[in-house]
Amino acid sequence: MITINEHYLKLQASYLFSDIAKRIAQFQTAHPDRKIIRLGIGDVTRALPQACIAAFHKGVDEMAEDASFRGYGPEQGYDFLRQAIAENDFQAYGAEVSPDEIFVSDGAKCDTGNIQELFAQDITIAIPDPVYPVYLDTNVMTGRTGAFVDGRYQGITYLDSTKENGFVPALPTGKIDLIYLCFPNNPTGSTITKEQLRLWVDYARENKALILFDAAYEAFIRNDSLPHSIYHIPGAREVAIEFRSFSKTAGFTGTRCAYTVVPKSCLAYDRAGNRQSLHAMWNRRHTTKFNGVSYPVQRAAEAVYSPEGKRQVRELIDYYLKNAAIVRKTMTDLGYSSIGGDNSPYIWVECREDSWKFFDMLLHKAGVVCTPGAGFGRCGQGYVRISAFNSPQNVKKAMEKITVALR
Ligand code: PLP
Repeated sequence: MITINEHYLKLQASYLFSDIAKRIAQFQTAHPDRKIIRLGIGDVTRALPQACIAAFHKGVDEMAEDASFRGYGPEQGYDFLRQAIAENDFQAYGAEVSPDEIFVSDGAKCDTGNIQELFAQDITIAIPDPVYPVYLDTNVMTGRTGAFVDGRYQGITYLDSTKENGFVPALPTGKIDLIYLCFPNNPTGSTITKEQLRLWVDYARENKALILFDAAYEAFIRNDSLPHSIYHIPGAREVAIEFRSFSKTAGFTGTRCAYTVVPKSCLAYDRAGNRQSLHAMWNRRHTTKFNGVSYPVQRAAEAVYSPEGKRQVRELIDYYLKNAAIVRKTMTDLGYSSIGGDNSPYIWVECREDSWKFFDMLLHKAGVVCTPGAGFGRCGQGYVRISAFNSPQNVKKAMEKITVALR
């Protein structure tokens, strides 16, 4: 008899985006003439930068000729891309990362989800609340949690991100082995300072723990006193793995390219307490289970680092940040407390009532779709996430409608 991995049965069905879709469909059936503006889902809306498109086309053309055709590439990514990443995303900012510590992949979702394979079953894990659900669900699937009780999985230490702590969780009081952090944060849009991040790195060093640092929204950081990478913090190379993605940086959500940095000095331990190299383990895992990102896509990603690519990416991010500023100002003017939107595409708005009630009210009165914060965890209750991923025209119109609805 073929039996299943019963840990899957513990998973809570992710109702968030399907519930949102259902409520929108009901609204549209009842009001077919009302236009809806979507500021809900975290997907980009603008085309790829021209520099990426040109490189993408060229890469495809190379695949059309026997002389320049490429078959399987290196699983870890082509040297041209790993080199460009190391130089531009790390060394240029003074962070020590070498090309062979970079593993190119088809998404930060897969990498943040797959990395937990490297760790023992009985480790202690801390996960933020609210949270990008992949960190939690992949540990549930593997059986590192108990049942889902009162809105939380047993066996997980939740790191509450609240108004009181500025949406940067406090260090755990107990001993944790694996810590997930995400800054700029999805869904709250909060950022972490170097001083705050240093506390986490110090905690990890003292406790022989590991930090999984998701920096998928790094490109939105405009305040240069904020850390662009965890490797700006002294000692982080021994205790942190960092995830980056071209998805939000350069509109690659549908094109797929990301990377994970595993420093050669990053350590974990076997049962006997001997040091083991996570770089060697991830390299083994990646080369065994992954066969590389396609050549034209890696060429398109490389173009992000060309002079024109850098300019176009900056324009792209500025475009969304301008939208975010409009959202933040409107909500502030309306008397709503919020965070994010300045170094992030997300604005986390305290709605002073149930998240879903506020969502319904915005949909019905303003025709605007946001994301109820409660869908990201218990601490998200009473908040909604408004996304800047739309056109300025739509964002302005949405804010006019919200202003009328909430006044
Ligand atoms: N990490 C965070 C925090 C995200 O919000 C997302 C996507 O929304 C991802 C990772 C996934 O990125 P990718 O498109 O590279 O899989």
